[in-house]
This record gives sequence, structure tokens and C-alpha cells, in this order.
Amino acid sequence: MSTAVSLYDLSLPELEARIRALGEPAYRARQAWEWAYRRFAQSYTEMTNLPAALRERLAEELPFPAMTVETELASGDGLTRKRLIRLGDGKLIETVLMLYDPRSDSRGRATVCVSSQAGCAMGCVFCATGQAGFDRNLTTGEIVAQVVGFAREQQDAGRGPITNVVFMGMGEPMANYRAVWAAVETLTHAEGMNMAARHITISTVGHIPGIRKLAEERLQVGLAVSLHAPDEALRERLVPTAHRYPLPEIIDACRDYIDKTHRRVTFEYCLMDGVNDSPEQARSLAELLRGMNCHVNLIPVNPTPDDSIRRPSRARTLAFQRALAEKGVPCTVRVEKGVEISAACGQLRGERANVEFMEAPPKRATDITSVSV
Ligand code: SF4
Repeated sequence: MSTAVSLYDLSLPELEARIRALGEPAYRARQAWEWAYRRFAQSYTEMTNLPAALRERLAEELPFPAMTVETELASGDGLTRKRLIRLGDGKLIETVLMLYDPRSDSRGRATVCVSSQAGCAMGCVFCATGQAGFDRNLTTGEIVAQVVGFAREQQDAGRGPITNVVFMGMGEPMANYRAVWAAVETLTHAEGMNMAARHITISTVGHIPGIRKLAEERLQVGLAVSLHAPDEALRERLVPTAHRYPLPEIIDACRDYIDKTHRRVTFEYCLMDGVNDSPEQARSLAELLRGMNCHVNLIPVNPTPDDSIRRPSRARTLAFQRALAEKGVPCTVRVEKGVEISAACGQLRGERANVEFMEAPPKRATDITSVSV
């Protein structure tokens, strides 16, 4: 069992301090940082421009995170890969890599969907993770390692870098804000992976303090808020912990976020047959979001063990989309990448690892893409 402080847990100044404490000059930290985040070294032995004695001390005192890939499944087209990763203390998390068809508009995009917690305390009724309960927060290093693992593989295969990261895997990222934000700072560090902050999205089920905190940050990462219902009563049924953060207050926090950051908010809405997918509910949702600089992603729910929650038909999905569009709300229907690999393994979870659907859109006043469900 180990969740000891790892190399990936530290910021560059913290690494410099550690290395100075070992009697070495600070520039050694920059060398190690470059090995970790530019060349994606897997061990200190690869860091050949560091003195051997320093490498040995670092390996003892600041190891790489103890994480192993337990299972990896690939979609038929090879573009989506899901990893079940065992952490040092035996907990399991999932990480997903989504590559995009080189012929599509998203050419060259490589997105990693990371987990921020082992398990989740939010208890969403349509989510296998939520039903399984909460284990613990991930450390910064455990979050960073999920991205670095795929970045290394991309590099070794001669493919492009990881371009996007979405915090849409297991857990509520805002409930582990400090570790999540430290990971964002590492991923965007100019002397490391140098990812664009605007290519990182943090998703929340409506954690108001987190939304307000994010609005104050220097780095302009994207915000996605999972609503799933246009009214409070239904939302509390679908997201049992939602009563802590009432819907009107979430919307207020999002409006303030938009005012402060001038950034668009994405709202995620998981469509469930006969539960939240009627045209009337679409119109209520449009009313709730009236005047906001936002975009709605409609996500037909994945099959769950609960028979009462089913994916709506394509006709119902499109009717919902049309009702939103008629009210002027920009919306996209997305399907999950790698549905078949999720189905192949009950543990691997990916209900929110989505991709914009490619079918020719029924363009109206808004930017709609339609979906084949
Ligand atoms: S949908 Fe997200 S917030 Fe809800 S239980 Fe699942 S992981 Fe947690």
C-alpha cells in the first residue's frame, strides 16, 4: 500500500526545494522536470544527465507513482482506449484516451478523460461509479500520471501529443479541488507539457463553491456543469446529493462565472427515456438557461444495471434537441466513444467520455449535430 509523495505530486518550485535540500543545485530540478514532462521518462535511470547518486536518492525519496494498468480495452477502430488502473493502495480508477479520425474536423486531437477520485460520493442514479460509492480523493500525482501515461505512449508510437484533458472520469473534481488544480498547473507548465488551459475542461455536477473558485483562477480552463434535469425535484431524484446545491443557485454561479471569465459554460444533460427527455422538459431547460453564453451537450444515457433507466430512442433524442434549438439554445448530441468496450467490461466506466457525433446536422439557427442512437 502506497500513496507516498511522488515526483508527479510536486510543482517545479517544490521539486527545486527538494533537490536543494539534497545538496544539489536547483537546475537539476529543471532537468528532472524535463525528463518527466517532455520526454515522459518512466524511471530516474533514464535521466542520464543527472548524477547517479542524485538519481538513487530521488528514486528512494520521490518515486514515480505506484500505478499499474490492470486492463486496457480498445474500440474496434482503435481510436478509443480505456484503462483500468490499480493505484498503490489497490483502489481502481479508469482513464480513457480518445483519438479522432484523422479525416474529421478534429484532426490531431487527442483527449484524455481522467478520474479525480477513486469512486464518487455524488450517487447519480444512472452512473455505475456513483452507485459503487466513494473510496478516496486522488493525489495530484495520480491525476497527472493518467495523462503522462498516455502521452508517453503517443510519443513512443510517433503520434502527436495529448492536446485535451477532460476531468469527466470517476469522481467530482470540485470535491478534490486542490489536487485537481495542482494537476492543471503541472499539465500547463511551459517547461513541461505546456498544454493550453483552454483545452482542459473541469466537469462538475454542480459544486457551487468549486464553480466560484474556478471563476477566480488565472488559468482559463473550461467549465462543464452536469444538470440532467430542468427542475429541482427531478434533479434530486437523479443526483441524490443535489439538494446541497439548489439548481437556481448553480445557475446563478454559472452566470457569475460567465460574467467574470467571459467564457462559455457547457451544460451536460444525460438523456433518459421517459425521465427527462420530453420536449416540455427541453423547453423548461431552455427557460432556465435563457440568455446565457452556454452550450448544451445531450448525452443519451449508457445502459445501466437499473432497468428503469434506458436510453431514449433516436426520435425522442432529436425531438428534445429540436425543442432546445427552437428556443435558441446551442446544443449538440454526443455519443460515447468506445461504447462496445464499456459493454465488454462491466468495471470499465465511460459514460461521460464522449465525442461529438459526426452525422450531417439538421442545421437551424443553432449549431446542432445530430446523433444516431
Ligand atoms: S456521474 Fe459523475 S458526479 Fe455523478 S456519480 Fe458518476 S462520477 Fe459521480
